[in-house]
Amino acid sequence: MAMAFRANPSAPGSATAPAARAGRGCVYSEVKSRLQGAGLRPTRQRMGLGWLLFAKGDRHLTAEGLYEEALKAQVPVSLATVYNTLHQFTEAGLIREIAVEGAKTHFDTKATNHHHFYIEGENRLIDIEGSDIAVETLPDVPEGMEIARVDVVVRLRRKA
Ligand SMILES: [Zn+2]
Repeated sequence: MAMAFRANPSAPGSATAPAARAGRGCVYSEVKSRLQGAGLRPTRQRMGLGWLLFAKGDRHLTAEGLYEEALKAQVPVSLATVYNTLHQFTEAGLIREIAVEGAKTHFDTKATNHHHFYIEGENRLIDIEGSDIAVETLPDVPEGMEIARVDVVVRLRRKA
């Protein structure tokens, strides 16, 4: 089962305390090596946005949401830069883009295979473990093509 959210993240004795608690320097160097590992030069803007993106663990957010966080954290970027950077991060495989019909594009800092619930009317995504959904039959793909991955979005609505 998916257990994406823990009620008490600061359980004593946890060996994997969030890096954010260990101080800025630690997170910054981690973001830097992530960027470099993906072949991206760690410019000031990429570092600033990467720090905002990755310091809070796995999450989904829109370009507008990240832009708001940048303003609050006084990271000097424009919305256009946020869009460009998110697309560069996506192309480099650091994050994934989740397109849901009728919703703004979300970006996912968890770049491994998994699926999503989408809550209609709330514009919210919740992770589903990759192993919790089995797609049994897939069509033949056109010649010269291969399936890159299968993303499943299960749409939810509140019971009437
Ligand atoms: Zn996700």
